[in-house]
Formats: sequence, structure tokens, C-alpha cells
Amino acid sequence: MQETTGAGPEYPGDDGVTDDFGLAGVPDAFQRLWTPHRMAYIKGGQHQFKNVDDCPFCVAPEREDDDSLIVYRGRTSYVVLNLFPYNPGHLLVCPYRHIPDYTDLTVEETAEFAELTQTAMRVLRKVANPTGFNLGMNQGVTGGAGIAGHLHQHVVPRWGGDGNFFPIIAQTKAITQTLGEVRQQVAEAWPQANDAGQATAGATDAQ
Ligand SMILES: [Zn+2]
Repeated sequence: MQETTGAGPEYPGDDGVTDDFGLAGVPDAFQRLWTPHRMAYIKGGQHQFKNVDDCPFCVAPEREDDDSLIVYRGRTSYVVLNLFPYNPGHLLVCPYRHIPDYTDLTVEETAEFAELTQTAMRVLRKVANPTGFNLGMNQGVTGGAGIAGHLHQHVVPRWGGDGNFFPIIAQTKAITQTLGEVRQQVAEAWPQANDAGQATAGATDAQ
């Protein structure tokens, strides 16, 4: 597997880099998220976390935002970049509590879970201009949850021509700086988008 270092401006026009989603050259903020995450996914595999101590959604809030890729911390839930995105800018809304099922959320948690999902959409529209979204929760292993023990809502930005919903495999690039850049963009845009959401509640703020 070829590995390149550095996340220079040459990507995604690199020789040999392929992108079946047709995103290459489209000037959105998240271009370079792609390949590194897919490779991390393939190399790391996917397994269920049985213990709270091993749960990445429980561990993440204990770390610094930069290290955990958290973009916003709410009262009962937080928002984090998915290390294994279906699309660039793929966010996850997670309760702090290690609970598996949507019905386990309290009324307060349910309200903030929904509020953070809305703000995540506003932020992504602001920084990456997607034309659509996929939102959703996979419930249980049978339902397709990668980490079934800890509830999480996917917020996946979509662009016209980005292909099907499933990821593709390409080459590896250094990922740390790229992840950090995207995390910073989303985190910085969050407060303003949240304020805008409060001001326009009840009316769509889609373009
Ligand atoms: Zn957990």
C-alpha cells in the first residue's frame, strides 16, 4: 500500500489518486479527509466494544478537543468528527452517557441531541456547502451499528455526484493535520451557527 507523507496542496490532484465520488477538484473545505480515514478504517478493522472502558465515545470527552476531534461539547451530548467518515465532514452526535438505545435518552437529552443535530447541519452548510444530508442512527448490531453500545447519530453531508453512500478505498496520506484543520473549521463555525439557529428557529435556513 503506497503511503505518502504531508498533506500538501497537491491533493486531490495527485498522480495516481483516484476518487470515485467525483469530489476531486470540487472546492469544498473537506477534500482531504477522504483517503486517510478509509485506510484507518481498513487497517483498524471494525469490532464491537464490550466495555465502557474501551468505548471510544466514552473515552473521547476525557481527552482534549484537538486529540479527540470533538467540535462541540453540550450539556448532555457532544459532537465529534467521525474518524471513519462516509463522506468528508461526517459528524457524530453522542450522549455522554454510555447508553445503547434511542429510547434510553431522557427528555432533556433527547432535546439537546436533536438541537445538536440541527446545528451540525447548519455548521456543515456554512463551511462545506453540502446540498444534502443523511441523518440517522443504526440501532443494535443487527441494525448495522459499528459501536452498538453507545448511541450516536450520524450527520453525513452529501454533494451532487458524490456517488453512493458507501466508502471507497484509495491511498494513504498523513491525516493528523488534516483532521485537525477540519475539526478547527467546524468548531470555530459552531457558535455562530448555533446563534443563527436560535434566531431562526422554526424556519429553514437552507440556502
Ligand atoms: Zn460509551
